[in-house]
Amino acid sequence: MTVERVDVLINGGGIGGIALAYILGHFGHRVMLVEQSARECPQNGADLLKPSGIKILRRFGLLDDILREGGLMRDKVRVFHDSELLSTVDYSVASDLGFFILIPCEKLRRLLMKKVEQMSSAQILFETRISEYKKDAAGNVIEVRLSDGRTVLPTVVVGADGANSFVRSQILGIEVEQERISYAAPMSFCSVPLTPSVRECNRLYVHSTHGLAYFYPLDGHTRLVISFPAEEMSALLADKSRGALVARLRRFVTGESADALDQIVESTEFRQIPIKRMNIKTYYKNNVALMGDAIHNINPITGQGMNLAIEDAAELARCLDVSLRGEKALADALLVYQETRHPINEAVVSYGHAMTMSFPDKVAFARNFNVTLQTSGRDPEQLERVAHAALPAVSAA
Ligand SMILES: Cc1cc2nc3c(=O)[nH]c(=O)nc-3n(C[C@H](O)[C@H](O)[C@H](O)COP(=O)(O)OP(=O)(O)OC[C@H]3O[C@@H](n4cnc5c(N)ncnc54)[C@H](O)[C@@H]3O)c2cc1C
Repeated sequence: MTVERVDVLINGGGIGGIALAYILGHFGHRVMLVEQSARECPQNGADLLKPSGIKILRRFGLLDDILREGGLMRDKVRVFHDSELLSTVDYSVASDLGFFILIPCEKLRRLLMKKVEQMSSAQILFETRISEYKKDAAGNVIEVRLSDGRTVLPTVVVGADGANSFVRSQILGIEVEQERISYAAPMSFCSVPLTPSVRECNRLYVHSTHGLAYFYPLDGHTRLVISFPAEEMSALLADKSRGALVARLRRFVTGESADALDQIVESTEFRQIPIKRMNIKTYYKNNVALMGDAIHNINPITGQGMNLAIEDAAELARCLDVSLRGEKALADALLVYQETRHPINEAVVSYGHAMTMSFPDKVAFARNFNVTLQTSGRDPEQLERVAHAALPAVSAA
């Protein structure tokens, strides 16, 4: 039986876990990442890399690789409410970085995965899970048995295992059902051929009857994300001719995107995006920490699910590095991680919520639309204001 000592055992190889493995490996720490899926199995996710995430990846020398992989730099998003232009968000003015990048989450994850696999201090085990674990009297996880039979002795365990996190629910015993709220209007997405309007800039349309359509280019296609109240969405997508959907979209999508709408045809397939709202209070206990979708779920309208996971990874890696180098006790380092990340995650989750719930009221939507937060600015004053604003109830959807 193999017994391995590691500094950090990461459960879950989504974008967050892989980013954490990369940064910790970069710092020279011994990292083992355990992913339940096969190496080839794609993990779907967000497509938007905003300045907050880009700056982290650039700091670790990855920006050129991202662009070489086909990441597309953009700077403008036109935002409409009930067919009226509300704002043209210009990242070259609104963000100090000056641009955002469109790249499928899976492409970025694969790029990082290859880099991690080249590191001598890090390893990834696919099709592997935690099958047993032992805690000491204080509650620290001191031994982990994996499904491939090996035993791991970790200094720290991290749950980067997504919305239904095993580490959160089984190892830490944290229940989230009360805190996790489902939205009444689900989202779905499709790919259609690329047209000039989409090549020109991103366009986000919202409608006061809880309709949404977002057009942007991805990997040489147009990605269209739509949202409607659940019953209406089912009825629209049940019409396989797509005629009902296109007619519904024409009620609020302007002529600026007519060429893209024309591409939605009978064979256009839609897939659903999970949308929930959550930000739990406890990000760690003893030597076990959580990150990414395991601690927060965000409405995709902000385009920041992938960014928040990368931001968590960078801050957690920074705090663990300080502790693993013996400069701070682990408890103090993880407290800094929680106190730094919780308010930011709370503000961005609340922002997405407030925006989504105000679709019916143009004035409220315009008031809630915040260019700094939309472009992933992290100005503490604005974050605090948004996090503490009274939030509309979900039942209004
Ligand atoms: C189809 C889709 C579209 C999305 N679109 C958007 C969007 O437009 N905008 C936006 O902001 N966000 C979007 N999101 C959400 C965004 O992608 C996530 O917020 C982000 O990927 C979270 O990353 P993560 O690494 O924390 O979790 P995940 O990506 O969920 O990764 C968790 C990983 O853990 C693994 N795992 C789970 N359980 C175990 C276990 N017991 N043992 C071992 N491994 C385990 C999983 O296989 C997975 O690889 C979308 C998500 C999906 C699925």
